[in-house]
Amino acid sequence: MHDLPHYDLYPYNTFGLHAHCDRFLAIESVSEAQTVLPTIVGEALLIIGRGSNLLLTGDYHGTVVHSQIHGIALDRRGEEVYVRCGSGESWDEVVAYSLSHEAYGAENLSGIPGDVGAAAVQNIGAYGCEIADILYTVEAVDILTGQLVTIYRDAIAYGYRTSKFKTAWKNRYFLTSVTLRLSRVFTPNLRYAALAREIAQSEMPLTAELLRSTITALRASKLPDPAVLGNAGSFFVNPIVRRAEAERLLHDYPQMPVYPVDDTHAKLSAGWLIEQCGWKGRRIGPAGVYPRQALVIVNYGGATGDDIVNLCRAVQQAVAERFGICLTTEVNII
Ligand code: NAP
Repeated sequence: MHDLPHYDLYPYNTFGLHAHCDRFLAIESVSEAQTVLPTIVGEALLIIGRGSNLLLTGDYHGTVVHSQIHGIALDRRGEEVYVRCGSGESWDEVVAYSLSHEAYGAENLSGIPGDVGAAAVQNIGAYGCEIADILYTVEAVDILTGQLVTIYRDAIAYGYRTSKFKTAWKNRYFLTSVTLRLSRVFTPNLRYAALAREIAQSEMPLTAELLRSTITALRASKLPDPAVLGNAGSFFVNPIVRRAEAERLLHDYPQMPVYPVDDTHAKLSAGWLIEQCGWKGRRIGPAGVYPRQALVIVNYGGATGDDIVNLCRAVQQAVAERFGICLTTEVNII
Protein backbone atom coordinates (compact mmCIF):
# COMPACT_ATOMS: atom_id res chain seq x y z
CA MET A 1 0.00 0.00 0.00
CA HIS A 2 1.13 3.55 -0.70
CA ASP A 3 -0.01 6.06 1.90
CA LEU A 4 1.08 9.53 0.78
CA PRO A 5 0.36 12.93 2.37
CA HIS A 6 -0.32 16.10 0.32
CA TYR A 7 -0.32 14.24 -2.99
CA ASP A 8 -0.60 15.90 -6.43
CA LEU A 9 -3.40 14.15 -8.35
CA TYR A 10 -1.98 15.21 -11.73
CA PRO A 11 -1.30 11.57 -12.79
CA TYR A 12 -4.83 10.60 -11.72
CA ASN A 13 -6.99 12.92 -13.81
CA THR A 14 -7.08 12.86 -17.60
CA PHE A 15 -7.85 16.60 -17.78
CA GLY A 16 -4.22 17.04 -16.71
CA LEU A 17 -4.99 19.35 -13.78
CA HIS A 18 -2.80 19.89 -10.73
CA ALA A 19 -4.71 19.52 -7.47
CA HIS A 20 -3.55 18.09 -4.17
CA CYS A 21 -5.37 15.83 -1.77
CA ASP A 22 -4.58 15.71 1.96
CA ARG A 23 -3.88 11.96 1.80
CA PHE A 24 -3.58 9.47 -1.07
CA LEU A 25 -4.04 5.75 -0.44
CA ALA A 26 -3.18 3.31 -3.21
CA ILE A 27 -4.53 -0.08 -2.15
CA GLU A 28 -2.92 -3.21 -3.58
CA SER A 29 -4.91 -6.05 -1.97
CA VAL A 30 -8.27 -6.96 -0.46
CA SER A 31 -6.73 -7.38 2.99
CA GLU A 32 -5.17 -3.89 2.84
CA ALA A 33 -8.59 -2.49 1.97
CA GLN A 34 -10.19 -4.40 4.85
CA THR A 35 -7.64 -3.07 7.31
CA VAL A 36 -7.30 0.58 6.31
CA LEU A 37 -10.74 1.63 5.08
CA PRO A 38 -12.66 1.30 8.37
CA THR A 39 -10.03 3.59 9.97
CA ILE A 40 -11.00 6.52 7.75
CA VAL A 41 -14.76 6.33 8.26
CA GLY A 42 -16.16 9.80 8.90
CA GLU A 43 -13.41 11.59 6.93
CA ALA A 44 -13.98 13.18 3.53
CA LEU A 45 -13.43 10.36 1.03
CA LEU A 46 -13.04 10.23 -2.73
CA ILE A 47 -12.58 6.89 -4.48
CA ILE A 48 -11.02 7.24 -7.93
CA GLY A 49 -9.91 5.01 -10.77
CA ARG A 50 -7.62 6.64 -13.33
CA GLY A 51 -9.54 9.89 -13.21
CA SER A 52 -10.89 9.52 -16.74
CA ASN A 53 -14.28 10.82 -15.60
CA LEU A 54 -13.13 13.38 -13.08
CA LEU A 55 -12.86 17.17 -12.98
CA LEU A 56 -10.94 18.59 -10.03
CA THR A 57 -11.83 22.22 -9.36
CA GLY A 58 -9.30 22.63 -6.55
CA ASP A 59 -7.43 20.79 -3.84
CA TYR A 60 -9.29 17.95 -2.16
CA HIS A 61 -9.34 18.21 1.62
CA GLY A 62 -9.73 14.57 2.47
CA THR A 63 -8.49 11.11 1.54
CA VAL A 64 -8.37 9.88 -2.04
CA VAL A 65 -8.43 6.09 -2.38
CA HIS A 66 -7.27 4.34 -5.53
CA SER A 67 -7.28 0.63 -6.34
CA GLN A 68 -4.12 -1.03 -7.53
CA ILE A 69 -5.60 -4.50 -7.18
CA HIS A 70 -4.62 -6.48 -10.25
CA GLY A 71 -5.10 -9.92 -11.76
CA ILE A 72 -7.35 -11.50 -14.40
CA ALA A 73 -8.63 -15.08 -14.16
CA LEU A 74 -10.82 -17.05 -16.54
CA ASP A 75 -13.33 -19.78 -15.79
CA ARG A 76 -15.10 -21.60 -18.65
CA ARG A 77 -18.46 -23.20 -17.89
CA GLY A 78 -20.14 -24.63 -20.98
CA GLU A 79 -20.67 -21.79 -23.42
CA GLU A 80 -20.13 -19.19 -20.72
CA VAL A 81 -16.79 -17.69 -19.76
CA TYR A 82 -16.43 -15.90 -16.43
CA VAL A 83 -13.66 -13.32 -16.39
CA ARG A 84 -12.73 -12.11 -12.92
CA CYS A 85 -10.54 -9.04 -12.84
CA GLY A 86 -9.03 -6.84 -10.15
CA SER A 87 -10.66 -3.43 -9.85
CA GLY A 88 -7.34 -1.73 -10.64
CA GLU A 89 -6.95 -3.43 -14.03
CA SER A 90 -7.27 -1.27 -17.12
CA TRP A 91 -10.71 -1.83 -18.64
CA ASP A 92 -9.41 -1.95 -22.18
CA GLU A 93 -6.76 -4.52 -21.26
CA VAL A 94 -9.54 -6.72 -19.87
CA VAL A 95 -11.41 -6.41 -23.17
CA ALA A 96 -8.24 -7.32 -25.09
CA TYR A 97 -7.48 -10.23 -22.75
CA SER A 98 -11.03 -11.57 -23.07
CA LEU A 99 -10.93 -11.51 -26.86
CA SER A 100 -7.54 -13.19 -26.98
CA HIS A 101 -9.03 -15.98 -24.84
CA GLU A 102 -12.12 -16.32 -27.05
CA ALA A 103 -14.47 -14.76 -24.52
CA TYR A 104 -16.92 -12.49 -26.33
CA GLY A 105 -19.41 -9.79 -25.39
CA ALA A 106 -17.19 -6.90 -24.28
CA GLU A 107 -15.82 -5.95 -27.72
CA ASN A 108 -18.19 -2.98 -28.24
CA LEU A 109 -16.71 -1.43 -25.10
CA SER A 110 -13.22 -1.38 -26.64
CA GLY A 111 -11.04 1.65 -26.16
CA ILE A 112 -12.85 3.17 -23.18
CA PRO A 113 -10.20 4.60 -20.86
CA GLY A 114 -10.29 3.92 -17.12
CA ASP A 115 -10.16 1.12 -14.59
CA VAL A 116 -12.42 -1.88 -14.14
CA GLY A 117 -13.76 -0.65 -10.78
CA ALA A 118 -14.77 2.74 -12.18
CA ALA A 119 -16.32 1.04 -15.22
CA ALA A 120 -18.62 -0.96 -12.94
CA VAL A 121 -19.55 2.06 -10.83
CA GLN A 122 -20.27 4.27 -13.83
CA ASN A 123 -21.91 1.63 -16.03
CA ILE A 124 -19.75 2.57 -19.00
CA GLY A 125 -21.42 2.17 -22.35
CA ALA A 126 -20.72 2.52 -26.05
CA TYR A 127 -22.06 1.26 -29.36
CA GLY A 128 -25.17 -0.34 -27.93
CA CYS A 129 -23.55 -2.19 -25.02
CA GLU A 130 -23.14 -1.37 -21.33
CA ILE A 131 -21.02 -3.12 -18.75
CA ALA A 132 -24.30 -3.93 -16.95
CA ASP A 133 -25.16 -6.25 -19.89
CA ILE A 134 -22.15 -8.46 -19.18
CA LEU A 135 -21.42 -7.96 -15.48
CA TYR A 136 -22.07 -10.97 -13.25
CA THR A 137 -20.86 -9.95 -9.78
CA VAL A 138 -18.80 -7.37 -8.00
CA GLU A 139 -16.66 -8.05 -4.93
CA ALA A 140 -16.28 -5.12 -2.59
CA VAL A 141 -15.10 -4.20 0.86
CA ASP A 142 -17.74 -2.58 3.06
CA ILE A 143 -15.92 0.55 4.16
CA LEU A 144 -17.72 0.70 7.50
CA THR A 145 -17.04 -2.87 8.62
CA GLY A 146 -14.14 -4.06 6.48
CA GLN A 147 -16.20 -7.07 5.44
CA LEU A 148 -15.72 -8.49 1.92
CA VAL A 149 -19.07 -8.94 0.15
CA THR A 150 -20.22 -10.30 -3.21
CA ILE A 151 -22.90 -8.24 -4.93
CA TYR A 152 -24.90 -9.67 -7.83
CA ARG A 153 -25.67 -7.49 -10.81
CA ASP A 154 -29.40 -7.19 -10.19
CA ALA A 155 -28.81 -5.64 -6.76
CA ILE A 156 -26.75 -2.81 -8.27
CA ALA A 157 -29.76 -1.06 -9.91
CA TYR A 158 -27.91 -0.20 -13.08
CA GLY A 159 -29.27 2.63 -15.20
CA TYR A 160 -28.01 4.83 -18.01
CA ARG A 161 -24.41 5.65 -16.93
CA THR A 162 -25.37 5.18 -13.30
CA SER A 163 -25.63 2.59 -10.54
CA LYS A 164 -26.38 2.30 -6.85
CA PHE A 165 -22.65 2.82 -6.23
CA LYS A 166 -23.17 6.42 -7.39
CA THR A 167 -26.33 7.00 -5.38
CA ALA A 168 -27.56 5.08 -2.30
CA TRP A 169 -24.22 3.25 -1.90
CA LYS A 170 -21.95 6.22 -2.54
CA ASN A 171 -18.74 5.74 -0.52
CA ARG A 172 -20.16 2.63 1.13
CA TYR A 173 -18.16 0.06 -0.85
CA PHE A 174 -14.65 -0.12 -2.25
CA LEU A 175 -14.75 -2.41 -5.27
CA THR A 176 -11.97 -4.99 -5.29
CA SER A 177 -12.90 -7.16 -8.28
CA VAL A 178 -15.49 -7.51 -11.02
CA THR A 179 -16.59 -10.74 -12.70
CA LEU A 180 -17.91 -10.55 -16.25
CA ARG A 181 -20.09 -13.25 -17.79
CA LEU A 182 -19.00 -13.56 -21.40
CA SER A 183 -19.63 -16.14 -24.10
CA ARG A 184 -17.54 -18.53 -26.16
CA VAL A 185 -19.86 -17.66 -29.05
CA PHE A 186 -19.26 -14.39 -30.87
CA THR A 187 -22.53 -12.56 -31.60
CA PRO A 188 -21.80 -9.24 -33.31
CA ASN A 189 -23.72 -6.21 -32.05
CA LEU A 190 -23.99 -3.78 -34.98
CA ARG A 191 -26.98 -1.84 -33.70
CA TYR A 192 -25.20 1.53 -34.08
CA ALA A 193 -25.40 2.84 -37.63
CA ALA A 194 -21.90 4.36 -37.70
CA LEU A 195 -20.40 1.05 -36.64
CA ALA A 196 -22.49 -1.01 -39.08
CA ARG A 197 -21.40 1.34 -41.90
CA GLU A 198 -17.71 0.94 -41.09
CA ILE A 199 -17.99 -2.83 -40.87
CA ALA A 200 -19.93 -3.00 -44.17
CA GLN A 201 -17.05 -1.17 -45.86
CA SER A 202 -14.50 -3.71 -44.70
CA GLU A 203 -13.66 -6.63 -46.93
CA MET A 204 -12.46 -8.74 -44.00
CA PRO A 205 -14.61 -11.43 -42.37
CA LEU A 206 -16.58 -10.09 -39.40
CA THR A 207 -14.70 -11.26 -36.31
CA ALA A 208 -14.61 -9.88 -32.77
CA GLU A 209 -11.08 -8.61 -33.48
CA LEU A 210 -12.34 -6.70 -36.52
CA LEU A 211 -15.12 -5.19 -34.43
CA ARG A 212 -12.63 -4.16 -31.76
CA SER A 213 -10.18 -2.62 -34.22
CA THR A 214 -13.01 -0.80 -36.04
CA ILE A 215 -14.34 0.65 -32.78
CA THR A 216 -10.85 1.62 -31.64
CA ALA A 217 -10.28 3.45 -34.95
CA LEU A 218 -13.71 5.12 -34.82
CA ARG A 219 -13.08 6.38 -31.31
CA ALA A 220 -9.61 7.61 -32.21
CA SER A 221 -11.05 9.55 -35.17
CA LYS A 222 -13.51 11.42 -32.92
CA LEU A 223 -12.01 11.53 -29.46
CA PRO A 224 -8.85 13.32 -28.37
CA ASP A 225 -6.06 11.30 -26.75
CA PRO A 226 -5.82 12.54 -23.12
CA ALA A 227 -2.04 12.11 -23.29
CA VAL A 228 -2.04 14.84 -25.95
CA LEU A 229 -5.10 16.97 -25.05
CA GLY A 230 -6.57 16.79 -21.56
CA ASN A 231 -10.19 15.60 -21.53
CA ALA A 232 -12.52 13.18 -19.78
CA GLY A 233 -14.40 11.69 -22.74
CA SER A 234 -18.09 12.55 -22.88
CA PHE A 235 -18.57 15.52 -20.58
CA PHE A 236 -22.38 15.43 -20.70
CA VAL A 237 -24.92 12.62 -20.48
CA ASN A 238 -27.30 12.19 -23.40
CA PRO A 239 -30.62 13.43 -21.99
CA ILE A 240 -33.43 10.93 -21.51
CA VAL A 241 -36.74 12.76 -21.89
CA ARG A 242 -40.41 11.85 -22.00
CA ARG A 243 -41.55 10.93 -25.49
CA ALA A 244 -43.99 13.83 -25.52
CA GLU A 245 -41.07 16.19 -24.94
CA ALA A 246 -39.12 14.58 -27.80
CA GLU A 247 -42.19 14.97 -30.06
CA ARG A 248 -42.45 18.63 -29.14
CA LEU A 249 -38.83 19.19 -30.13
CA LEU A 250 -39.14 17.10 -33.28
CA HIS A 251 -41.95 19.40 -34.40
CA ASP A 252 -39.50 22.33 -34.42
CA TYR A 253 -36.37 20.33 -35.31
CA PRO A 254 -37.46 17.45 -37.56
CA GLN A 255 -33.85 16.41 -38.24
CA MET A 256 -33.05 15.94 -34.53
CA PRO A 257 -31.78 12.41 -33.67
CA VAL A 258 -34.11 10.61 -31.23
CA TYR A 259 -33.56 7.07 -29.91
CA PRO A 260 -36.39 5.19 -28.19
CA VAL A 261 -35.56 4.04 -24.66
CA ASP A 262 -38.87 2.52 -23.54
CA ASP A 263 -42.58 3.09 -24.11
CA THR A 264 -42.53 6.49 -22.48
CA HIS A 265 -38.96 7.76 -22.82
CA ALA A 266 -36.53 8.66 -25.58
CA LYS A 267 -32.85 9.56 -25.68
CA LEU A 268 -31.57 12.73 -27.37
CA SER A 269 -28.03 13.33 -28.58
CA ALA A 270 -26.33 15.87 -26.30
CA GLY A 271 -23.62 16.33 -28.94
CA TRP A 272 -26.22 17.30 -31.54
CA LEU A 273 -27.92 19.79 -29.20
CA ILE A 274 -24.58 21.43 -28.39
CA GLU A 275 -23.63 21.61 -32.04
CA GLN A 276 -26.94 23.28 -32.95
CA CYS A 277 -26.19 25.95 -30.38
CA GLY A 278 -22.95 26.73 -32.19
CA TRP A 279 -20.65 25.52 -29.42
CA LYS A 280 -18.84 22.77 -31.33
CA GLY A 281 -15.21 23.89 -31.67
CA ARG A 282 -15.68 27.05 -29.58
CA ARG A 283 -13.32 28.02 -26.79
CA ILE A 284 -13.36 30.10 -23.66
CA GLY A 285 -9.70 30.75 -22.96
CA PRO A 286 -7.80 27.46 -22.64
CA ALA A 287 -10.96 25.31 -22.38
CA GLY A 288 -12.87 24.31 -25.49
CA VAL A 289 -15.57 22.12 -26.98
CA TYR A 290 -13.74 19.58 -29.12
CA PRO A 291 -14.21 20.33 -32.83
CA ARG A 292 -14.70 16.67 -33.82
CA GLN A 293 -17.06 15.69 -30.98
CA ALA A 294 -19.20 18.28 -29.21
CA LEU A 295 -19.74 16.02 -26.19
CA VAL A 296 -16.11 16.40 -25.22
CA ILE A 297 -14.56 19.36 -23.42
CA VAL A 298 -10.80 19.70 -23.73
CA ASN A 299 -8.00 21.46 -21.92
CA TYR A 300 -5.90 23.15 -24.60
CA GLY A 301 -3.18 23.72 -22.02
CA GLY A 302 -3.10 25.51 -18.71
CA ALA A 303 -6.85 25.42 -18.06
CA THR A 304 -7.99 25.32 -14.45
CA GLY A 305 -10.93 23.34 -13.18
CA ASP A 306 -12.85 26.63 -13.00
CA ASP A 307 -12.14 27.38 -16.69
CA ILE A 308 -13.67 24.04 -17.60
CA VAL A 309 -16.66 24.54 -15.31
CA ASN A 310 -17.28 27.99 -16.83
CA LEU A 311 -17.36 26.50 -20.31
CA CYS A 312 -19.62 23.71 -19.10
CA ARG A 313 -22.08 26.25 -17.62
CA ALA A 314 -22.09 28.31 -20.84
CA VAL A 315 -22.90 25.21 -22.91
CA GLN A 316 -25.62 24.11 -20.47
CA GLN A 317 -27.18 27.57 -20.57
CA ALA A 318 -27.18 27.72 -24.37
CA VAL A 319 -28.86 24.29 -24.65
CA ALA A 320 -31.40 25.16 -21.95
CA GLU A 321 -32.32 28.45 -23.62
CA ARG A 322 -32.72 27.00 -27.10
CA PHE A 323 -34.21 23.57 -26.40
CA GLY A 324 -35.47 23.75 -22.82
CA ILE A 325 -33.25 20.75 -22.03
CA CYS A 326 -31.08 20.62 -18.95
CA LEU A 327 -27.81 18.84 -19.75
CA THR A 328 -26.30 16.97 -16.82
CA THR A 329 -22.64 16.15 -16.57
CA GLU A 330 -21.28 12.64 -16.93
CA VAL A 331 -18.01 13.86 -15.48
CA ASN A 332 -17.74 13.87 -11.71
CA ILE A 333 -17.00 17.48 -10.70
CA ILE A 334 -15.18 17.73 -7.37
P1 NAP B 1 -23.06 9.09 -32.57
O1 NAP B 1 -23.05 7.93 -33.50
O2 NAP B 1 -22.66 10.44 -33.08
O3 NAP B 1 -24.47 9.22 -31.85
C1 NAP B 1 -24.71 10.25 -30.90
C2 NAP B 1 -25.41 9.64 -29.71
O4 NAP B 1 -26.56 8.97 -30.15
C3 NAP B 1 -24.54 8.61 -29.01
O5 NAP B 1 -23.99 9.20 -27.89
C4 NAP B 1 -25.45 7.44 -28.75
O6 NAP B 1 -25.85 7.31 -27.38
C5 NAP B 1 -26.72 7.75 -29.50
N1 NAP B 1 -26.96 6.67 -30.49
C6 NAP B 1 -26.43 6.53 -31.73
N2 NAP B 1 -26.94 5.46 -32.35
C7 NAP B 1 -27.82 4.89 -31.49
C8 NAP B 1 -28.67 3.75 -31.55
N3 NAP B 1 -28.73 2.97 -32.62
N4 NAP B 1 -29.42 3.45 -30.47
C9 NAP B 1 -29.37 4.22 -29.37
N5 NAP B 1 -28.59 5.31 -29.25
C10 NAP B 1 -27.83 5.65 -30.30
O7 NAP B 1 -22.15 8.71 -31.32
P2 NAP B 1 -20.61 8.93 -31.07
O8 NAP B 1 -20.43 10.20 -30.36
O9 NAP B 1 -19.80 8.64 -32.30
O10 NAP B 1 -20.36 7.78 -30.04
C11 NAP B 1 -20.41 6.43 -30.41
C12 NAP B 1 -20.45 5.58 -29.16
O11 NAP B 1 -19.28 5.78 -28.39
C13 NAP B 1 -21.63 5.95 -28.27
O12 NAP B 1 -22.22 4.78 -27.78
C14 NAP B 1 -21.01 6.75 -27.15
O13 NAP B 1 -21.66 6.58 -25.93
C15 NAP B 1 -19.63 6.16 -27.09
N6 NAP B 1 -18.75 7.16 -26.54
C16 NAP B 1 -18.47 7.10 -25.22
C17 NAP B 1 -17.65 8.05 -24.67
C18 NAP B 1 -17.35 8.06 -23.22
O14 NAP B 1 -16.51 8.81 -22.79
N7 NAP B 1 -18.02 7.27 -22.41
C19 NAP B 1 -17.11 9.06 -25.44
C20 NAP B 1 -17.45 9.10 -26.77
C21 NAP B 1 -18.28 8.13 -27.31
P3 NAP B 1 -25.04 6.48 -26.28
O15 NAP B 1 -23.97 7.40 -25.83
O16 NAP B 1 -26.08 6.27 -25.24
O17 NAP B 1 -24.55 5.23 -26.86
